[in-house]
Amino acid sequence: AHEQNLLNASKPAVTIDGVAISVEGNIGSLDEAVKSAQSGADGIGLIRTEFIFANNKTIPSEEEQYKAYSDILNAMGGKPVTFRTFDVGGDKPVAYMNLPKEENPIMGLRGVRNYEANKELITNQIRALLRLKPQANVRIMIPMISSARELDHMINVFDEEKKSMGLKEDYNLGIMVEVPSVAILADRFIEKISFFSIGTNDLTQYTVAIDRGNAQLAKFSSSFNPAVLTLINMASTAANKAGKKAGVCGGMASQMNAVALLIGLGVRELAVSAPEIANIKALIRTLSVKECEAFAKEAISLRSSVNVRELVKQKFNL
Ligand code: PEP
Ligand code: MG
Repeated sequence: AHEQNLLNASKPAVTIDGVAISVEGNIGSLDEAVKSAQSGADGIGLIRTEFIFANNKTIPSEEEQYKAYSDILNAMGGKPVTFRTFDVGGDKPVAYMNLPKEENPIMGLRGVRNYEANKELITNQIRALLRLKPQANVRIMIPMISSARELDHMINVFDEEKKSMGLKEDYNLGIMVEVPSVAILADRFIEKISFFSIGTNDLTQYTVAIDRGNAQLAKFSSSFNPAVLTLINMASTAANKAGKKAGVCGGMASQMNAVALLIGLGVRELAVSAPEIANIKALIRTLSVKECEAFAKEAISLRSSVNVRELVKQKFNL
């Protein structure tokens, strides 16, 4: 069966009731982009741009970034590529970024919150990304947004840069949904942008208040917690209502036992690791959105992640 799945990997994943689900790569390098393309990815749902320059001693220049991003875009041969702007801080330090020592970095200067103190770095990145625009299929997304005020500020920053570059075309901007405040007020965010990408790793961490890196508490933290599922559903429902798409780019998207649940919650794009693409596409072809919705509704009504996993097992034997 796995051989057969590999043969069909580059074909679209359409449910038995005719809904196309985009199965995209989740990458941190050009190498992984090439692997995703070879594995049949419909695009790239997340590129962690901070990983590309992880070994830099100095900040990556606009030119250096433009070259790296163009190479990835070319490797994907015209398919959509989602570039996440630098997500540094918290669990991800880098040498070239100005990061203060903090008591509680997970709740501190992470992602977008670092841009003000690292203006040159982020300006280089925004300019490099906006320069890709004529090649189309470029999606840009901002990590760790937690308030509308923060999003509005970033839209201004992008617009100013676009103006100073004399660019006319619109750019495709989205945000990560990884802080509960964004899922709760999802309609007020989606109206200003083109898409949501749900980061279930951080969304789970901030919903259950368990550090994602704390091994001792890991057994109490699950993305299958009905509270997390409720937030995923709120974000995707708001996106779908606005005629836009919500994807998942956290680790949950690569789990076979989460696929039906996510589709049932309204998610239409999954960013997964290359080796999972063929099998996840094959699984999607056996599902119906109608059934997934009924199943997700039941899952959301349960009391704990343990009950949700039992339900998945019972319905799908996964
Ligand atoms: C997430 O939080 O789910 C996510 C995709 O971002 P990262 O794992 O890079 O924090
Ligand atoms: Mg995250």
